[in-house]
Amino acid sequence: MSKSVSLHTLGCKLNYSETSTIAKQFEEKGYSIEEYGNPADIFVLNTCSVTENADKECRQIIRSVIRNNPATYVIVTGCYAQLQPEEIAKIDGVDLVLGANEKFKLFDYMDNFQKENISCIDESSYKDVKVIRKEVYELDEFVEAYSADNDSRTRAFLKIQDGCDYKCSFCTIPMARGKSRSLDISKVVENAKKIIDSGYKEIILTGVNTGDYLFEVNLPEGESLKYKLIDVLYELDKLNIERIRISSIEPNLLTDEILDLYTSSNKFCNHFHIPLQSGDSEILKAMRRRYNADFYKDLIYKINDKIQDVGIGVDVIVGFPGESDANFDNTYRFLDSLPISYLHVFSYSERRNTVAIDLPNSVDVRKRRFRSQVLRNLSNKKRFEFYTKYIGTEQEVLFETVKDAGVIEGYTRNYIRVQTPYSAGTENNIKKVKLSAADSIKPVMSEII
Ligand code: SF4
Repeated sequence: MSKSVSLHTLGCKLNYSETSTIAKQFEEKGYSIEEYGNPADIFVLNTCSVTENADKECRQIIRSVIRNNPATYVIVTGCYAQLQPEEIAKIDGVDLVLGANEKFKLFDYMDNFQKENISCIDESSYKDVKVIRKEVYELDEFVEAYSADNDSRTRAFLKIQDGCDYKCSFCTIPMARGKSRSLDISKVVENAKKIIDSGYKEIILTGVNTGDYLFEVNLPEGESLKYKLIDVLYELDKLNIERIRISSIEPNLLTDEILDLYTSSNKFCNHFHIPLQSGDSEILKAMRRRYNADFYKDLIYKINDKIQDVGIGVDVIVGFPGESDANFDNTYRFLDSLPISYLHVFSYSERRNTVAIDLPNSVDVRKRRFRSQVLRNLSNKKRFEFYTKYIGTEQEVLFETVKDAGVIEGYTRNYIRVQTPYSAGTENNIKKVKLSAADSIKPVMSEII
């Protein structure tokens, strides 16, 4: 009987696409894939380390898997494994800790996942746990990855970039994923074609800092050709795909050329996710972000002017060191005034080896929580206002997930989550619907027309 493996992912879409690559490697070796939660011979956790809470969740999952299935061979990889391997290795029952590069070379290190065969082959081994991990400055490989966002095989996340050269003072990602590097543009197109041939209707371009995509081809006599994100978009625009999105893009990298392409081609969805982090320029400076509030505001208005019915999601962090009530108030009023459609709110948490951890005037944790709730309420209000604008209008929805009670859900081009009664042939198809009723949190009701 073949051995089984169960995999679980925490964190960003990039992690999800990379877990798919690991799963494919197991399948090629003849392993069967078990759903997360079911017993399996091997368990792989691809971790996140964006906040202290993310680390905590990783530890809880590892402990729960070990408690429920003590015989399972436990492998932990991803950002938390790269940043804090000792913390993970200290958990009784963990068998293998793999750093960011090593997660794709699992079978180079191990082909016999037997708990009793554990050996300490690495100098940095902790107890009887094998830890294989390169230092961050050595993280220079690019491993290709793409995956479905769920079982419906309608939207695929395509990894085009990894790592980050920016130095945001709160962020550990450059330490976990290394320098910015990008996939050869011809491979991006090749992978996009594979995705299309598998029947997907939408491609979502992902990376750590996707807008920083740069692939250089050396030419004779010291010349070189540089491909940027816009060149990738031009190439993808030629393919037979219904929809393309960029998962997230830094404001300083969202160029006029990209916006022009979005207006001239019907493949690009009128939706952006643009991290802001703070609406107060003093805090943005302390965060070492590459723009101020005025720049961001002008960008949002420019996008709204150029792209009809655009949906814009915004990341924001509350409780950064030194964020006074007045600074937070500026962020609130700034976000409230902008034509945006939803927020992703994060509470600041102290991360080892960052610049921000040494900054004075730490914000009380209860205040962070309170501010986070205030912005979550604002997000609900923004979403409701955005959704309400489109009630009674006709929209195209890519239907993907069948929910309980005969209901199916999908997204409009501008990222309104929509629900409709299920009818055969709706899955993985773009249907015209009329939006009928909105709630701030729930998907908008609709009828197919
Ligand atoms: S842009 Fe800033 S926040 Fe984003 S990954 Fe890079 S350093 Fe981190």
